[in-house]
Parts: sequence; structure tokens; C-alpha cells
Amino acid sequence: MAGLIPEEKITEIKNLADIVDIVSETVVLKKAGKGFVGLCPFHAEKTPSFTVSPDKQIFHCFGCGEGGNVFSFLTKQTGCTFPEAVRQLAARYGVEIPERGVGPGGAPVTSEREKLVAINRLAAEFFRRELVSGPEGQRAREYLAGRGFEAETLKVFHVGYAPSQWDLLARHLGRQRIPEALLLASGLVLPRRSGRGCYDRFRERVIFPISDAGGRVIGFGGRIIGEGSPKYLNTPETPVYSKSRSLFGIHLARPHCRSSNEVYIVEGYLDLIALHQHGIRNAVATLGTALTADHVRLIKGMVGEHGRTVLLFDSDEAGIKAARRSIGVFAAEFVDARYVVLPSGYDPDTFVFEFGAERMAAEASAAKAALPFLLDRAVGTHGLTNEGRIRILADLAEPLAAIADPVARSLYIREVAERTAVDEAAVLEKVRHFVDRLAPPRGRPEATAPQEQGALSRRAASPGDRQERQLVMMMLQCPETLAEVERWRVVDLMENGALKGIAEAMVDLGRRQRFVVADLVAAVEDPRQKQLITSLAMQTEEWDPRGCMRLIRHFVDRQGRRRNQRLEAQIVEAEQARDHQRLERLLTEKQQLAVEQNRRKMKIQGGER
Ligand SMILES: [Zn+2]
Repeated sequence: MAGLIPEEKITEIKNLADIVDIVSETVVLKKAGKGFVGLCPFHAEKTPSFTVSPDKQIFHCFGCGEGGNVFSFLTKQTGCTFPEAVRQLAARYGVEIPERGVGPGGAPVTSEREKLVAINRLAAEFFRRELVSGPEGQRAREYLAGRGFEAETLKVFHVGYAPSQWDLLARHLGRQRIPEALLLASGLVLPRRSGRGCYDRFRERVIFPISDAGGRVIGFGGRIIGEGSPKYLNTPETPVYSKSRSLFGIHLARPHCRSSNEVYIVEGYLDLIALHQHGIRNAVATLGTALTADHVRLIKGMVGEHGRTVLLFDSDEAGIKAARRSIGVFAAEFVDARYVVLPSGYDPDTFVFEFGAERMAAEASAAKAALPFLLDRAVGTHGLTNEGRIRILADLAEPLAAIADPVARSLYIREVAERTAVDEAAVLEKVRHFVDRLAPPRGRPEATAPQEQGALSRRAASPGDRQERQLVMMMLQCPETLAEVERWRVVDLMENGALKGIAEAMVDLGRRQRFVVADLVAAVEDPRQKQLITSLAMQTEEWDPRGCMRLIRHFVDRQGRRRNQRLEAQIVEAEQARDHQRLERLLTEKQQLAVEQNRRKMKIQGGER
């Protein structure tokens, strides 16, 4: 499964890696009993149902059912492959993995994604050199200095410059023997329309490398110097860069967001860099794209359940539009975002340069919730004439309907009615029209737990399934019972396919080594089985040795009786059909069963002494 990575290396990494450390990088965790809980990064929720167990080295979400070990967490969270997750952890914990391929700059690489990250790093270095010492860099340096940016700040963000020639970068990377197909996949170059070869996507622009949360360069943004169009140009979607999942500055902001429990969201590269230069480091920027649920989950992972999210958008039309669009996204993820309206004509960049960090902090602390913010804007734009009031209501009906909490909604409806002097019933009527349209589909993700669905549903399960579920839970939570389970051949008697498979894998694993849940998760292939394991392992049940034995014995007895009954019915059938061959086979089976049961009974009596 891990491809070229030797099994013992995977084991070494698994033993070194701590799932709590790894998960904490993207989810704010707090202690709860023997484990930790936090907001799930895989589904929208407002109260934590995502649990991590340091003892078992697994995670499980009781909301959406996702679960697994440290490797599954990384692959799900970052979208990387299993070998990539192993390598990432290897690098982090200083485990050396023998490599096969050698990539640009002699760096050992394997997957396409890793190659693309390596190319991006080379490109970022190239752009940086061009800014600092290239012949054209002077102009860009002057432009940035003219806007107040210090060399030290630009260095932190590794800001660079793409010269005006058509293929300087393409040739530079070509000299490193990087295949053209990879260059094209990186999005840094485009194929020439006529003839062969390719040319640079970014030319005559200030370049901002975009990093993922781990600080790896995944893409670039380029800003034109002075006027021109397009003002901004970004890396297109590539195997490593997706604009809907990336936030500029996230790798620098994370520790500051953690310690302050607060995050500022701005729109532009320079907005963010300006804040940083003024000491406001708990900030990230969206990359000229509407906020998505993925962005919001990344943000939640930085500030946690009770964190504060403040949007600092431009006060121009586009900024307001972006803020408006974000309201529904935050509401769907149960995040109470706050909005700052900067004085007209300012964006966060120009504001912080002119008024300083303290004024910015003051503006942020006066940030408004979404609805009051929109109401202010609408009143400001449309005025309170009859015509204006009609427009205000048209603007606000949908955002009002999007408020999930009925109490909050009715309070805001009253506020809008009072401010516009329109009858509350009339406002309500307008809102109701949208509420019906926005009504969430039945069976919200929070209400259902996929791992409990189907044959394993607690309510719908047969008594047999329930007992088998209980047995597997016992085996997972007290591995000391595995010997007894084997002795009684419990697994042979199990009937539920999924549970039996898990029990089998467990007994098998227990024979070879000290049993660890995280290893079992790694040993099964089916993702649904993985989820079932983490779900059962995380249930809090108290087990005592006598209770365990009772459960095993009860199950063995019950299954024995059931098999006997089934055999007897089949014998009657065979007799009636005069199928002598079958009858003989069944009778032999019955005899064997009786011997087996006798043996078990003796064991029980022996065990009870
Ligand atoms: Zn979840």
C-alpha cells in the first residue's frame, strides 16, 4: 500500500508520531476525559463531536462518522496520498526514508504532487532573486517601498518579481531538466500557441508565493505594478493548489490565531502583508475568491469553537458584495463572523498605514455581526425614503432568512422593522418567502451518523448483531480479552460480515504483536470498516473481566443453540426430501457440534472453578 516505503519505516513513524500533536495543527483540541475533543474538520458543526484518543492513537467523529489513525487523518485533511502522509511525518519526526527518484536540484522526490511543490520552491527562489538583485527588480522594489513595505517584511513573505521577458522562468526551470509536462502541470508556464515550447504565465509582476498550512509553496499570485489589467493573476487549479482551499499567510498566522483566539480575514495580498508589518499577525487573506466552506473550516481549525472571526473587507462595492456572500457560508458552518466597515475609500492596507495598528484594533473590536453590518450598509446606500426602504427590505430578506437561530432571526427582524419604520409583519412576510426556499433538506449531517446506518444501526440491528457489536467493542477496548475470544473460537460463530471481519483482523494482529487500535485501523482496507472500528473503540463503556467472560459465554451458548436449531430444521427438510446424502452430512455436522459444545461446557466449568 505504501509503495516504495519499507514497512519497518512506517512502523517507526507510527511509533514516533502522536495523533494529538498532528491533529492539533489544524483543529483546536481540548481535554475531555481520557481524550480530546474539537470541532470536526470534515463536517459542519457547532458543538464538538470530533474526538481524539491519545491512548489508542485514533480519531473519530460522532457527527459524520469519519475516523482513523494518524495517516488517515492526514490523507483526509490535506487530500494527500498515503505515501505522502508517511513522508510528511517522516520529515517531521526525522525518520529517513530511502528514496528512488531524484528530482530538480538533486532533491529526492516521488509523487507528482511532491515534484510540483519542489518546482514551486525553485520558482519562488527564482522570483525572489529577481526582486532582490535582478536588473528589473529595482522597479518593483521601488514600487513596494513607495507603498511603505519594508524589506524585512517582504523577506518574511518571500515576495518576488517576475521579469518582463517571455520565457525567463521557463528557461531557468528547463535548465534543471524538468520535463515540460511537469512545468505545464505546475501552472507556471503556458504552451506556446505556435510551435513548440512554453512561456511564463507571470511576467512583469510582483509575485507572492502562496503556502499551505505546513509552509510548502503550492501556488503564486502576481500583482501588476501600477495600473493595468488584470490587476491580479493567480496560479490556476493544479494538483497541489486549489483556491477554494487555500488562504494566503496561513502558515504564518496559525500560531498567532491560536494564542489570540482571533483571526482577521482580508481580501488582498498587500492587505495581509500590511497588517503583518504593523504587528497584526493573526490574519489570512482569501485569494480573490469567494469564501468557501473549506476556508471556514480551516479558520475554525485555527481559532476553535469560541474563537473570534473578523472580516476586514474593502468598503467598495466589490468588498461589500464579498462580505455579503460570505454570510451564508459562515452561517452554514455555525461561525458567528464579525464585519468591519472601514471608512469609505480605505482598504485594510491603506487604513493601517495611515492610522496604525491601534486604530485598526479598535475598528475590529467594534466589528458588527452580519445583519447589523448589512443593515448599516443598506441604509447608507439606499437612504430612508420610501423607495430606499423598499430596496433595504429587498436586500435584507434573504440574509435574514439565512439566520438559523429563530430567536436571533426574530430579534433582527424587529430591528430592521424599527430602523426602516416598516410594519414587522410585513418584514416577516418578505423573509418567510426565502425561509421556505432555504429550508435545509431533511436529515442534516449533524443528526445522522453514517457509521451507524444500515445493518449496524443500533435500533434496527437484530439481537445477534447487537451482541456481536458489543463483543467487538469489548475486544477493542480491552485487548486482554483477545486470548479468551480465540480460546472460545468466538469469531467462527459471528455472523455479521463487517463485525466478523474486524474481529478476525484483531485476533490475527493480536497473535503477532501487542494489540493497538491504530494498527488495526491500518490493517483493514475498507474505509467503512475503519470508521466502524474507531466508532466502537471510542464508545465509553466500563468493562470488568467477569462482565467480559459473561458476554463471551452468553454469545457462545446462544450461537450454539441457534446453530443446533438451524441444523435440526435442515435435517427435517432433508428427511422430507429423502435426500440421503445431505441427511448424512447434516447428521455428522450435528454430532460434531455436540462434541464441540461439550468441550466448551467443560471449559466453562473449568473456568468457573
Ligand atoms: Zn465530522
